[in-house]
Amino acid sequence: MFDHIAFPTPYQTLDLPAPVQLTVKRLDQIHPHISGNKFFKLKYNLLAAQQQGCSKILTFGGAFSNHIAATAYAAQRFGFQSIGIIRGDELASQVLNPTLQTAHDFGMQLHFVSRAEYRLRHEAAYLQQLQQQYPQAFIVPEGGTNALALQGSQEILSAHDRENHDVICCAVGTGGTIAGLIESSSDRQHVLGFSALKGDFLQQDIQQWTDKKNWSLTDAYCSGGYAKTSPALLQFMQQFEQQYAIPLEQVYTAKMMMGLFDLIQQQHFPENTRILAIHTGGLQGKLKTY
Ligand SMILES: *Cc1c(COP(=O)(O)O)cnc(C)c1O
Repeated sequence: MFDHIAFPTPYQTLDLPAPVQLTVKRLDQIHPHISGNKFFKLKYNLLAAQQQGCSKILTFGGAFSNHIAATAYAAQRFGFQSIGIIRGDELASQVLNPTLQTAHDFGMQLHFVSRAEYRLRHEAAYLQQLQQQYPQAFIVPEGGTNALALQGSQEILSAHDRENHDVICCAVGTGGTIAGLIESSSDRQHVLGFSALKGDFLQQDIQQWTDKKNWSLTDAYCSGGYAKTSPALLQFMQQFEQQYAIPLEQVYTAKMMMGLFDLIQQQHFPENTRILAIHTGGLQGKLKTY
């Protein structure tokens, strides 16, 4: 089913003026539409949907959800219909942003719901109602995070990554990807998450998926919250891209990289630490301001 995905994943080691080694694992390059972590999160969900004979994939997301765009593409590619329950009924009367337009172009039916209704997205009764409304649908939660996504995310790190790096960094949204990285990391490695949103609740969300303790999370670089940016973030993103020729986007990967560069500059890591930063993709949602 996934033969067209590019493996092995390219790596890029950055030339830094600091005594640490930083390598980027370019999951953004595995596929133009199911890029980055979303491929790993969707993989076993799509296989399960196929095995269960479902003809539709139904999932949830906000207006900037890379998961929505990736699911729309993957569903179409593998012969499913797709339905996106989108947060914010005011969006129904607006021009679609690039993420939602991409999803629409790949055939996803977009259902805009009020914030109050969207809040029910984890409630059993609401899910049952959706299941009755769409009897053939395989329901994938917001951001794609469930046990099957965890299984896929555990395939991001290779044996080589486990042996040759001391710190693994990634951007965090719902926490599914980092939980898979933690579960598949070696115990002598530390997994460091850079949250794209504010708040302590993510700590517990991640703990639901793993008992391991070799990880930490910071929201110090989230620029005020999910999908929020700052002039400093956009400036960092532009400078980084020019210097290293690696595209970032403002919702996740630029926040991670800005945080990581700040920690390196503060000498947070001991000398010769071998850092692996996971580029989780998401470039379809990139702001094009320059
Ligand atoms: C969705 C996404 C994330 C967050 O993944 P979670 O598993 O929800 O934490 C990180 N980076 C990019 C580029 C994403 O699209």
